Amino acid sequence: MPDLLVGAVICVVALGVGFLSGSAYRASDLRKKGEALEELNAKNRDLSRWLQEFKDIHARDSEIATLIPSMVRRLAERHPSDALPRLAVRLTKELFKTAQVALAVAKKDGSLLVTEGVGIPPAWKGTLALSPRDGMIGEAMRDKILVLREEHVARRGRPELSDLERAGMVPDAVIPIVVEESVVAILAVAGSAGRMDRDRPFASMLADLVANAFQISLAIEALEQRAMTDPLTGLYNRAYLADRFLVESRRARNYGFPMSVALFDIDRFKMINDRYGHPTGDAVLRKLASFLRERARSTDVVVRYGGEEFAILMATADSGVVFEQADRMRAEFEKTPFVVPGQADPIRVTISGGVATYPKDGQTFTDLIAVADAGLYHAKENGRNQVSGPRPVELRP
Ligand code: GH3
Ligand code: MG
Ligand code: MG
Repeated sequence: MPDLLVGAVICVVALGVGFLSGSAYRASDLRKKGEALEELNAKNRDLSRWLQEFKDIHARDSEIATLIPSMVRRLAERHPSDALPRLAVRLTKELFKTAQVALAVAKKDGSLLVTEGVGIPPAWKGTLALSPRDGMIGEAMRDKILVLREEHVARRGRPELSDLERAGMVPDAVIPIVVEESVVAILAVAGSAGRMDRDRPFASMLADLVANAFQISLAIEALEQRAMTDPLTGLYNRAYLADRFLVESRRARNYGFPMSVALFDIDRFKMINDRYGHPTGDAVLRKLASFLRERARSTDVVVRYGGEEFAILMATADSGVVFEQADRMRAEFEKTPFVVPGQADPIRVTISGGVATYPKDGQTFTDLIAVADAGLYHAKENGRNQVSGPRPVELRP
């Protein structure tokens, strides 16, 4: 019987131990499972964060991928150089969805002047000057690369103020526009919705595109300027006059004003060349050019029309005014002595002229000039050193 009791006790103890160790095992198993679950959850959160970031980047990339072609197209169109700042500001705002964009152009003396912007006080445009040396602007001007605020602060240990911050704009980034190794302008952006650090390559690309557009339009304008200018006198030439005629005649039509042209030709110029030499002839041409320019009104267009012929397009002048002005110039030029180097006495140079008025004497540039030229021919025939009124165009002998 005691054996049976002992056996029963052993059984009960064994069952108890078994039960206790079983539940202890279950508890540690649960803890491990809990930890594993927590780890999985953390991984899951990391993954979701990463996935969101990936989605954001992907969304931003595809947004930029759709923006870039239209940006490139718009910048590749032909723009006058003075229209580019406004376009650059608009594109910057579109690309970075920033609250504020300011564009400052580099002036010849090295200073920067805000000329365009969005989200900035309108009074800044054309008045707010920025030092090219301070803060993020200074860094962008010096290093000629895009400067981000965080990077600037990290490098300096603390933000260094520029005139923009002093005026009340705290830029996230300052983007220099570099043409042929010099900074021609800076774009400052503030309050951007996205992350400028991630968008850095796109900002640099935009800056390069804008710089290219600047370079191309400046080159074209310089070529046009050269093609429209006479190198000897610095005056515009006949091609320019023909272009201006189109603009001015449209304006004259719109406002119902007349518009006139005076054509001058130096008398016996060939003789001046023959007697005093070609360089003296050139000096006489330059002298007459500056004489006419000085006497013309600011709205008049003075051009060297050909060899020793000059023309003045006078906006709003009628037949009476153009004749009076042209004859006054002729009479004054006659009284202006011309000193020839090596000659004791100054020589007297005279000019003859013809005039015509739009639209009554001619509706096109060619017709109007032909009438003025007929007058000029008449003045020459009549003895030179005089101005003739409009003459009907006739066939010359
Ligand atoms: P007219 O009174 O009838 O106008 O006689 P002119 O001698 O002035 O006229 P003509 O047309 O015979 O001569 C014009 C001269 O102008 C001939 C040409 O050599 C000269 N000429 C044209 N362009 C230039 C230039 O750029 N420099 C110089 N020095 N002479 C020029
Ligand atoms: Mg002549
Ligand atoms: Mg001539």
